[in-house]
Amino acid sequence: MSALPEDIITPAQETQDFLDQKHQLLIGGEWVDPISGETSTIEDPATETFIAEVACGGADDIDRAVVAARKALKGEWSTMTTHERSRLIWKLADALETRLNLCTELEVLDNGMPRPIAMYSIVAAGVNYLRYYAGWATKIHGQTIPVSPGGAPNGGTLTYTQREPIGVVGAITPWNAPLPMVILKLAPALAAGCTMILKPAEITPLSALLIGHLTKEVGIPDGVFNIVTGHGSDAGAALAEHDGVDKIAFTGSTEVGKIILKAAAGNLKKVTLELGGKSPVVVFPDADIDRVIPGAARAAFFLQGQNCMAGTRMFVHDDVYEEVINGVASMANAFNIGPGLNPDTEIGPLISSDQVETVMGYIEAGKATNADLVCGGDALTGPGHFVQPTIFGQTTMDMKIAKEEIFGPVLCVQKFADSDLDSIAEQCNSTIYGLSGSVWSQDISVAHQMVNKIDSGQVAINCHAAVDPAIPFGGNRQSGWGREMGLEGLDSYLKTKSTTVMF
Ligand code: NAD
Repeated sequence: MSALPEDIITPAQETQDFLDQKHQLLIGGEWVDPISGETSTIEDPATETFIAEVACGGADDIDRAVVAARKALKGEWSTMTTHERSRLIWKLADALETRLNLCTELEVLDNGMPRPIAMYSIVAAGVNYLRYYAGWATKIHGQTIPVSPGGAPNGGTLTYTQREPIGVVGAITPWNAPLPMVILKLAPALAAGCTMILKPAEITPLSALLIGHLTKEVGIPDGVFNIVTGHGSDAGAALAEHDGVDKIAFTGSTEVGKIILKAAAGNLKKVTLELGGKSPVVVFPDADIDRVIPGAARAAFFLQGQNCMAGTRMFVHDDVYEEVINGVASMANAFNIGPGLNPDTEIGPLISSDQVETVMGYIEAGKATNADLVCGGDALTGPGHFVQPTIFGQTTMDMKIAKEEIFGPVLCVQKFADSDLDSIAEQCNSTIYGLSGSVWSQDISVAHQMVNKIDSGQVAINCHAAVDPAIPFGGNRQSGWGREMGLEGLDSYLKTKSTTVMF
């Protein structure tokens, strides 16, 4: 069975024109070819057809970009008022909002996500992140600190702190939600007065390139935002180890996060890491099942399960297990699978044939266990990288499918018989990850106790993965270092200088 309809919706002319243009590197405010002259091709994961040719930069291009970013750090950007910086970030948000359709279609074609998700959850989120951090640009300040005046000739001291931009930031981003991953780094970096070199995921660079054009259009000074598209092992690795970079902001797999950390050790650059997840969804018998079922289906299958926050492990009380698993399975079976540009598509393709292979490897591993295959379990006939939403019931935490991040549409459901919160929490916390999670119950006391026992950076009650620019987001254990979003997300782009005056 193929997921492709006979008439595939084509993108708007504006989108096609963007795709057809020459995609170069953005260095020091100029669009330039990579020194090697190499390019790579981008495909639509729904149709496996060519959509764009993009410059493939390497280590020598990273060198050029670092020079440009260091120069810009000391240029007009450093003397610009915070009000002007705020205004530029807000203008960037406006410019993106007016390209809502273009950016939506780029995300859909590049990544495969369904159009409404791209428009309302992905691009709209990017606009909101920019506006949120535009507000912070004028509110960054230090403190005055009372200290004992030992040795002061006239018995007085004044100590104050200032918050300074951390410097040149290297941003390395993944393919699963291309635009917000870039903006979550760019927006606080601009608010803090940093400059940036972005290395977007090699297979989904298009929305980042659009942002590059918009930064020029709104007048962000040359060299403040630079883009080097290219491979992780080449351009990415060069950026992570570069002595001219002061901080790396990385989102991606835990495996590559560890490589980044080692590469960053050379000059002890600061590092924030947003990594993988395998988040629990705990359903107590008194939960509102009419909310649990759609909530759990969305938690597991949003972005085809290629979502770091995905609720991929459900722990459901025995009393409601059958109702919940059957309800989520009937939603999963009813999802319209197809190309993201089709208006009725709810589940798009996975990003690549490699990802299909990885996900199908897990599904086959699941089939070989005692788990029940409740729905799905197959890839669709090509073209397109489609995999059915798949649910395994009666899973246990010793199974590979329950322990490892699959990053595809696979949900593992397991039962618990009594509501011993410690033993549920032990299972929730039994993977290497601690990113997200949710608890579903009408009993606020049980729900809050459970939240306190789950070792994750973000746990929701009666919803999953609440995201807002004001809510700090990040992982515990091997899900990451530090937080993005909120004030904490801004803090990681600032450093503190303390000054003491004696008088
Ligand atoms: P990935 O780790 O393979 O790649 C991420 C980025 O790192 C890409 O730009 C890639 O080119 C680059 N890269 C690869 N090797 C590198 C190296 N040696 N040096 C420097 N850079 C290198 O991840 P992915 O497959 O693009 O994304 C999926 C992963 O991202 C999943 O594990 C997912 O959970 C995670 N993720 C986490 C969050 C979060 O906020 N915690 C959000 C989205 C995705």
